[in-house]
Amino acid sequence: MGFLDISNLSKSFGATQVVKDFNLSVEKGEFISFLGPSGCGKTTTLRMVAGFEVPSAGTIRIDGRDVVRLRPNQRNIGMVFQSYALFPNLTVADNVGFGLRVAGVPRAGRASRVAEMLAIVGLADFGARYPFQLSGGQQQRVALARALAVRPQVLLLDEPLSALDAKIRVSLREEIRSIQRKLGITTIYVTHDQEEALSMSDRIVVMNNGVADQVAPPFEIYNRPTTRFVASFVGTLNLIEAEVADAAAGRLRLGPDLVDLGRPLPDNRRVTLALRPEALSLAPHGGRDLALAGEIVEVHFLGSVIRIRVQVGDARLSLDTFNSPDSPPPAVGAPATVFLNARDLMVL
Ligand code: ADP
Ligand code: MG
Repeated sequence: MGFLDISNLSKSFGATQVVKDFNLSVEKGEFISFLGPSGCGKTTTLRMVAGFEVPSAGTIRIDGRDVVRLRPNQRNIGMVFQSYALFPNLTVADNVGFGLRVAGVPRAGRASRVAEMLAIVGLADFGARYPFQLSGGQQQRVALARALAVRPQVLLLDEPLSALDAKIRVSLREEIRSIQRKLGITTIYVTHDQEEALSMSDRIVVMNNGVADQVAPPFEIYNRPTTRFVASFVGTLNLIEAEVADAAAGRLRLGPDLVDLGRPLPDNRRVTLALRPEALSLAPHGGRDLALAGEIVEVHFLGSVIRIRVQVGDARLSLDTFNSPDSPPPAVGAPATVFLNARDLMVL
């Protein structure tokens, strides 16, 4: 049993089931992300853990205690929302101390705890300000400090960075993760941003249509997706249609080439192969065992990385090269050979 256990959790609104038999066991101190497209049920699942939504079925245990029938303030959780949700008429210090006051903590204890929390989020000198005097990123730090001030057992964050600029988003996600590590607090972080989930999480729950499709560490989610949805939602994916020549022998026909995958294939006439951009290159690095002839059809200069699209038969393949100040990017229309290793082909 984990520290936070969610078993057979379901939620329907009217006739629509938006969370379907969701199971998850979270270890103490673990950082978990719920990752999925808009509408897949992330917020609803989180709100059931928080106590803002009543499950249609299932159980939620925190530290061995069944919390399903408890109100949010009885669950010992802290919550951070996308919209900050600070009290506009209270100072930063009073916002952070709000939960402590409700809990009846005396003034002196409150003040030292508030100071401690403001220091942790890097706003030690901002206690006397009002929310409107802060940037979005600073307001979200206050919201985090407020959520953590009551020493919750579980921290829940629902797309806390979605409203912020790209640069702040990146620095704040590193900061949230480092605060989470320092405090060792068990955390669930909801996001639709795959990079956020990959960079922050101990484990990611990829959600699709109310179902937890795959639960695994970021490296595994990215490199060994177990469903087509996970493979295509997380990261960029090249899809190649191929004809099965010999299913048992793992042989397939890829354009003019016969390719041996070295593992048995599903017994279909055709399969879809998937490949990450970084598994492709325009040079035969390290003796890549397959070469596909094509033509460069798109070149996107992104700064440190150049994303190139090559048309190979029916497939348009994305690959990345690093910028080099000495060699300009290739030209659209130029012929190109794409190199890869057969073992990197994922069969979906
Ligand atoms: P996500 O956070 O992944 O974007 P949500 O959990 O907010 O998804 O929503 C999942 C589905 O449940 C959506 O189709 C949404 O419209 C629906 N939904 C959420 N809350 C309610 C509600 N209170 N009443 C009816 N439908 C709802
Ligand atoms: Mg949501």
